[in-house]
Amino acid sequence: MSKRYRTALVWLRRDLRLDDHAAFYHALKQSEAVLPVFVFDAAILDALPRDDRRVDFIHQSVAALKADLNALGGDLLVRQGLPVDEIPRLAAELGADAVFCNRDYEPAARERDAEVARRLSERGIAFHDSKDQVIFETDEVLTSAGKPFSVFTPYKNAWLKKLTPFHLQAYPARRYLDALMPRKPEPMPSLADIGFQTSDLSSLPIQAGAAGAEALFADFAGRIERYKTQRDFPGVKGVSYLSVHLRFGTISIRQLAAYAWHDGGEGAMTWLSELIWRDFYQQVLWHRPDVVERAFKPEYDALPFPNDSEWFDAWREGRTGYPLVDAAMRQLNRSGYMHNRLRMVAASFLVKDLLIDWRWGERYFAEKLLDFDLAANNGGWQWAASTGCDAQPYFRIFNPVSQSEKFDPDGRFIRRYVPELARLPDKLIHAPWLAKPEQLADAGVRLGRDYPLPAVDHAVQRELALALFKR
Ligand code: FAD
Repeated sequence: MSKRYRTALVWLRRDLRLDDHAAFYHALKQSEAVLPVFVFDAAILDALPRDDRRVDFIHQSVAALKADLNALGGDLLVRQGLPVDEIPRLAAELGADAVFCNRDYEPAARERDAEVARRLSERGIAFHDSKDQVIFETDEVLTSAGKPFSVFTPYKNAWLKKLTPFHLQAYPARRYLDALMPRKPEPMPSLADIGFQTSDLSSLPIQAGAAGAEALFADFAGRIERYKTQRDFPGVKGVSYLSVHLRFGTISIRQLAAYAWHDGGEGAMTWLSELIWRDFYQQVLWHRPDVVERAFKPEYDALPFPNDSEWFDAWREGRTGYPLVDAAMRQLNRSGYMHNRLRMVAASFLVKDLLIDWRWGERYFAEKLLDFDLAANNGGWQWAASTGCDAQPYFRIFNPVSQSEKFDPDGRFIRRYVPELARLPDKLIHAPWLAKPEQLADAGVRLGRDYPLPAVDHAVQRELALALFKR
């Protein structure tokens, strides 16, 4: 059967793998010769610090994929610049008659892709984008009235009802590799070539690329049955830690969802629910791109947060005097990761104890999280701040001490990140200011010197937050 295109580019973005890859699959099936390309996007990179771990992660993942493709006799072209210029130029230079990619739902990416498609079409080059990043996209799951869902549980029920084996089926790109364009490998630009320096990524227990994702997933699969009972305890290895791989597409969401679905156990189904949250926030962002700037519920945009910048600095640096919050922030600063329970506690503390605009915290997480994803981060922050869809009601305010007693009962997590409190007994580690002077002395803690006194009084701030929201 003759193919539709002679030469096609596959433009890779947040899908840095070859297995189960929709765009690769469609390009390989429909074209005689397929050449993949990745562009380090100046519009995104220019704003980042030169030692950003995410750039390092992407660089390593791209290099690993390029090596895989080289071993198959092909190549992955790596460019730097603005994709709106680079992709049409490259397509024209190579005489490509089509460009394939996987859809991205972020407002800036949608604009970029529309512009690329427009410029390609001016040159008579086709542009095809596919669903790959989520199981259900845009308006595939709607209410019976045809409206987007704004509450998670009915969305999840509708999502599960709509799911068929087709939606979980892999796109077996490797089966069609005879269409991979044979090509002598170009050298891979180094991090320095693209204006960055090596970050501390290699000192963290993170392996980039598809091999890293598979190893992590294999490890998680062995403990998925315990996910439901262990997922809320940051001191325990209970979650998958796959978020950075899902963010950069070094593993396929279909592979993960299919695994959980076929397992069907309590742990696996609880985990599947989290993957559905991921789809949920992507469709919120698609339908309401204004949430990037504004509250999902517009009436909350007028909240007059006092925004004390000294308190904000204390929160960022992990010195609020609330050990669980401080441990969480130090985990983020040190590793680029924060456990989900702690993201909820730290976000709630910023907004409802320190009375700081959720957007400040959202921006800080966006700078620091390795797995930063606009849809999930915005959704998580608006949930915690009670400004979002299906959010925590404003009067439900996490108590940072009881959260600590409940989810880090033996202080194992706190001790890891706040070693200055390590010698306090389990019972006292959650609220050291309640310890007697002799108990502090026994543990070698001088409050206000080795570890801060609490920046605020939770009981007082709670009342202020309630009054702020009520107003
Ligand atoms: P697991 O518990 O193993 O979950 C598996 C996967 O499900 C995750 O990797 C993630 O892709 C998805 N997932 C889990 N929970 C959520 C959720 N609530 N919303 C959307 N997807 C979810 N997640 C991000 O991927 N990027 C972010 O920038 C991000 N920012 C957040 C900010 C706040 C304030 C909050 C409360 C949550 C945020 N989350 C974010 C969601 C969640 O905290 C992380 O996905 C999770 O902690 C990642 O760890 P894991 O891979 O071990 O998760």
